[in-house]
Amino acid sequence: MTSGPDTAILEGVAASPGIAIGRARVLVREALAIPERRLSAAELPAEVERLVRAAARARARLEEIQRAVARVELVDAVFRTQLLMLEDRQLLDEAARRIRDEGVNAELALRREGDRLLALFDAMHDPYLRDRRADVEFAVRQLLMSLLGREPAGVGSLAEPTVLVATDLSAAEIAQLDRAHVVGFATDAGGRASHAVILAHSLGLPAVVGLGDATRAIGEGDLLVVDGRAGRVLVRPPDAAVRAYVERARAERRRACALLRGADLPAETRDGRPVALRANLECVEEIASLGRHGAEGVGLFRTEFLFLNRSEPPGEEEQERHYRTLLAGVAPQPATIRTVDLGGDKLPIAGPRRTEANPALGLRGVRLARGRAGLYDVQLRALLRASPAGRLRILLPLVSGVEEVVALRERLADLRSGLEAEGCPVADGVELGVVVETPAAAALVDLLAPEVQFFSIGTNDLTQYTVAVDRDNEAVAYLYDAGHPAVLRAIRAAVEVARAAARPIGVCGEMAGDPLYTLVLVGLGVDELSMNAASIPLVKRILRDTEWPEARALAGEVLGLRTAAEVTDLLRKEMRRRFPGELEAV
Ligand code: PEP
Ligand code: MG
Repeated sequence: MTSGPDTAILEGVAASPGIAIGRARVLVREALAIPERRLSAAELPAEVERLVRAAARARARLEEIQRAVARVELVDAVFRTQLLMLEDRQLLDEAARRIRDEGVNAELALRREGDRLLALFDAMHDPYLRDRRADVEFAVRQLLMSLLGREPAGVGSLAEPTVLVATDLSAAEIAQLDRAHVVGFATDAGGRASHAVILAHSLGLPAVVGLGDATRAIGEGDLLVVDGRAGRVLVRPPDAAVRAYVERARAERRRACALLRGADLPAETRDGRPVALRANLECVEEIASLGRHGAEGVGLFRTEFLFLNRSEPPGEEEQERHYRTLLAGVAPQPATIRTVDLGGDKLPIAGPRRTEANPALGLRGVRLARGRAGLYDVQLRALLRASPAGRLRILLPLVSGVEEVVALRERLADLRSGLEAEGCPVADGVELGVVVETPAAAALVDLLAPEVQFFSIGTNDLTQYTVAVDRDNEAVAYLYDAGHPAVLRAIRAAVEVARAAARPIGVCGEMAGDPLYTLVLVGLGVDELSMNAASIPLVKRILRDTEWPEARALAGEVLGLRTAAEVTDLLRKEMRRRFPGELEAV
């Protein structure tokens, strides 16, 4: 990397790919001065009323923003979550209780309750849930601003390509960005699963998050290069580096256009072996991205999103509406919906909490069907009720034994009979599948096969459990590699056994969208790869440019290696040789 005397290079989390070059607009949120008052008993009811009115105003303002930005195809669900936070009973009722019990003003009560909730989020292990912290922070700030009668400062008018630099950005703030001028953003906080990142993806805005102290290291008006794929921000780069990035940005755009032009071509090897390329979705608003990227339906719809940031789990009707929208939007292609994978540390904040010493090994995934049967029954009924809208495949997470699947299959049959008795139509041919993500499930594929119609390998957790490495622990991150020979062997065995039992088997973990592994997985014989929709065009290009025997030979060679590092080295060399220019960022 060429750098000038004044250049700084900041490393963060690669949040949304692409290169953005522009001047910094540093958005530092002023700290809100919170008045602290003790109130007399007589003043308390009016103070609670003041809080309720402030919440209504904050909500109205957010709804206004939502209406104004609907035209830029925003992720509506993000707004819905944030609106829900503004009327969240946990937050508002508890703040009202504090006004009454602690005899303090609304601002102070809200700050105290907000701090308590944020501390809960900070203690969570799951990165997806931890990223929901920004929603709580956003809601508390909006409510405080409303109480204090303050208007949000906003970004102001922009006249040139601008990179927004902030401690954190809420989805609403990103939604309001002046898209004619804001070319990317960089934030101190945030992880890969934050709403800001989901929105950046859907708007095609390059972004790097989790930079730590970007707002201090970057000055207003500094020239910046945001390399969203590398997770890097160049501050005040020398001219030569800027020129090189301008060239790279052009080349990336040309490549992306060329790949998108091939999006409608069949997903098959050059000699005609099909591999279904499907999308992983978190919310129904992302359906729009499927067609553009050439996805054949949805291989993994994570339903946790529906359960977060609320005091009560969503009811049957609310869930049914979501699943119907998804099924109808994806039909005639299948929509694979995973039953909820909450539990242990992953429980929603307002749900009953248990502290577990080993949450990754605790009450989560399908184990919740036993521990909290009501939760699963509501979801399964909602899924069955929605089933006539399209082609439903139900996927069970964290299976570790045949009896779990048998119990759920029987439960599904009972719920189906119940619904039919109520006169509620349920589609024939709803398929049931298992996420192969524990070594136990991987070893039991032959015994699970008679119970299900399909399998999907969850390489994120399969790596965690096979290598015994916490997927969120920085200290052992060097060991977390899906290319570990033990993981590859587990995949090979699962695929062979599933195919022998005539059950289709796919991969839905991050590995499925990593172009480095496309040929190995195809060569091992998977029937489906499910990934972030934006990754599909490149994976399809690799697939279509390869003969099946070549992929088999490469898989065979890779399976003979002894370490993850040897696997990565070989694949980097091989894929760069086969696809020069396409995989340089890999
Ligand atoms: C996996 O474990 O690979 C997977 C797809 O699920 P998640 O990342 O949601 O645990
Ligand atoms: Mg998993």
